[in-house]
Amino acid sequence: MNFLEERILKDGVVKAGNVLKVDSFLNHQMDIALMEEIGREFKRRFGHKPVSKVMTIEASGIGIAAFVAKEFSVPLVFAKKSKSINIDGDMYVAEVESFTHKNKNQVIVSKRFLHEGEHVLIIDDFLANGCALQGLISIAESAGAVVEGCGIVIEKGFQIGGRVIRNMGYHLESLAIVDAMDAENGSIIFREQN
Ligand code: 5GP
Repeated sequence: MNFLEERILKDGVVKAGNVLKVDSFLNHQMDIALMEEIGREFKRRFGHKPVSKVMTIEASGIGIAAFVAKEFSVPLVFAKKSKSINIDGDMYVAEVESFTHKNKNQVIVSKRFLHEGEHVLIIDDFLANGCALQGLISIAESAGAVVEGCGIVIEKGFQIGGRVIRNMGYHLESLAIVDAMDAENGSIIFREQN
């Protein structure tokens, strides 16, 4: 069991509706030593790739992705959720359905911060149905950037996102993959990974 799986078992809470709450250490209160370890682990897994920019989506991806960007010594750009319907031509836009809030948001990245030929590593806290990742991939590719990989802290392997992204041919690394969880008794089962 790796450092993250141990922490999820200790402090994660399984909620109804396939939601795993990790807000005491990952995406509300943040354990900075753990964030540093996550940053180092993604560097270990993607360090052989020519990453020139880390990309994520607000809000909870930002804190994690910052530690990854620091390891690679590259900038971090995050997609912003935008309510505005008149988005001008200076933005890359994608539509993303939120798993936790069940609403759709347009997410935007300014064309000033993503360019053709850049090598992007996409980072997020969770992977469920894959909408957030697909939105980020579509933004990166409309800019003409190369998606070098996707790094996820917690993949819920019983939802379709992981399969969809891997089938699309992207290099996806998830630090923990939850194959089953039960809100009634709080149990969490992880997929074996090397
Ligand atoms: P997807 O777009 O893959 O369906 O969902 C991923 C996004 O939804 C992540 O950015 C994350 O913020 C949120 N999310 C999905 N599942 C969970 C969960 O079980 N717990 C928490 N805290 N967030 C989740």
